[in-house]
Amino acid sequence: MKIAIRRGHQRTGQDIGAQALLKEIDVTDSYYKEVIDILKKLGHEVLDVTPPEANRTVGNSLMYGIDKANKWGANLFISCHANKAYNKYEGELGCEVIYYPSSKKGKDYAIKIEKELSKLGFKSRGAKEDKRGLAELRLTNMAAVIIEPFFIEATEDVKLYERIGAKAIAKAIVTGILR
Ligand SMILES: [Zn+2]
Repeated sequence: MKIAIRRGHQRTGQDIGAQALLKEIDVTDSYYKEVIDILKKLGHEVLDVTPPEANRTVGNSLMYGIDKANKWGANLFISCHANKAYNKYEGELGCEVIYYPSSKKGKDYAIKIEKELSKLGFKSRGAKEDKRGLAELRLTNMAAVIIEPFFIEATEDVKLYERIGAKAIAKAIVTGILR
């Protein structure tokens, strides 16, 4: 299976991601590398479609990965993020995986990955159909999911993340993909 993986966000430019108790970019950078590592060791073809740092706009950062995955002909697109509810925050907790509304394959992957993440102890928020028209799901030609393992503004979630580490999250994602 050909799997394209994009790390959500950049360290410079407009697309720097969410910040709270942790920086989203630090979380995504840690676990997405482990996902690549584990999948490669298992013999899968993996393409890292994360754009190099170049003071990008959000649109440019997103399109870089989408174009690369489409041109490569990936079977699956995985985008690695971490959640933040911003001003709506009322103690939100847990994991969710988002898929493109009409994609049966995307939904299947989302369900399997979310289930494995919840087994780590994160509260299950479920596999969710995208309602925002997210570019990574809308513009990719293959099954695609956006992974939100936990909330970076939730004390409990952050505590659990710091205890189990990025590798545990990566292992759960890979188990979900391959299940
Ligand atoms: Zn994000």
